[in-house]
Amino acid sequence: MKVLLANPRGFCAGVDRAIEMVERALELHGAPIYVRHEVVHNKFVVNELKSKGAIFVEEIDEVPRGKVVIFSAHGVSQAVRKQAQDIGAIIYDATCPLVTKVHKEVTRKQKQNHNVILIGHEGHPEVEGTLGQSSGDQTVQLVETVSDVENLEISTDDISYTTQTTLSVDDTQKIVQALKEKFPNIQAPKKDDICYATQNRQDAVKALMESCDVLLVLGSNNSSNSNRLKEIAKKMNKPAYLIDGIDDIDVRWVEGVETVGVTAGASAPEILVQEVVDCLLDKGATEVVEVSGVKEDVHFPVPGELR
Ligand code: SF4
Repeated sequence: MKVLLANPRGFCAGVDRAIEMVERALELHGAPIYVRHEVVHNKFVVNELKSKGAIFVEEIDEVPRGKVVIFSAHGVSQAVRKQAQDIGAIIYDATCPLVTKVHKEVTRKQKQNHNVILIGHEGHPEVEGTLGQSSGDQTVQLVETVSDVENLEISTDDISYTTQTTLSVDDTQKIVQALKEKFPNIQAPKKDDICYATQNRQDAVKALMESCDVLLVLGSNNSSNSNRLKEIAKKMNKPAYLIDGIDDIDVRWVEGVETVGVTAGASAPEILVQEVVDCLLDKGATEVVEVSGVKEDVHFPVPGELR
C-alpha cells in the first residue's frame, strides 16, 4: 500500500493566528479566558486549549462581567460584539482577516443601498456573523443552492453577492452562474471570497484523487472546509472519510487498497497527519509520498496588544 500526502494541507494563516491569540491571551491574563464558540473547528485543538485554561462558550451571557473574551476565527455579528462590550469584557477578535474582508464588503455594499446576497451554509457560525453585519432595516439574504436562487424575489437592479470563505469552489460557481442569469447586473466581490486556503486544499485533493483509491481527511465533523474536501473525493466516486484521528480509522477502509490519499482541513494540526501516516505504516503501507503542490506564504500577525 502506498500513501500519498496532499499539499497544501492542514493549518491556514487564519487558524494559526486564532490559536496563537488564545495562547498569548492565556499567557498575558492567566486562566480562565473565555472563547466565544470553538476558536477553530477542531476537537484536538479545542481540547488542547481547554487543558491550558480556555473556556469555550456559545453565548456571551455565559461569560462573567469584565473577563477576557476571544471571538472565534469564524467571526461574530455586530450584536454579539455589542453584548461583549456591554459586559465590560476585554475583547480580542480572532476573526480571520479574510472573513473580516467579507464583513466589510457587506457593510460597504449596504451603504450603497445594495441588496446583498450571501452564498453560504445556513447555521454555520461564519454565516451567522456575516448575516449579522447588517444595520438598520437592511438584511442580507442567504442562498445555499441553485433552487434558492430561483426562489429569490428582488425588484431592484442594485444587487451584490458575497460568499462564505470555505465553500466548495465548484458548487459556488454554479450558484454564481444562476445568480448572474437571474440578475444580469449583479455585482461580484472585488476579489473572490472563497479563501486561498480553501481553494488550494480543494485543488490539491482533486489532483491527488486522480491516483488514489480512498481518501482520509483529518478534520472535525463541524469543519466546513474539511467536509468539502471529503465531498470532492465522493464526487469522483472514491470513498472518503472524515476523521478526528487514528481512533476513527476502520481498517477495512484500507484493506486491499493500493493507494491511500491523506489530507487535512484548514483547522487540523499536522501532528494528527503524522499519526495517521504511522498508523498506515503499521497496517502495511510500504511507501509514503509528499505530493508537491502550491507553496503558501500567507501569514496574519496577531494584534499588537498580544505580541
Ligand atoms: S479557512 Fe480561510 S477564511 Fe477560514 S480561517 Fe483559514 S484562511 Fe481564514
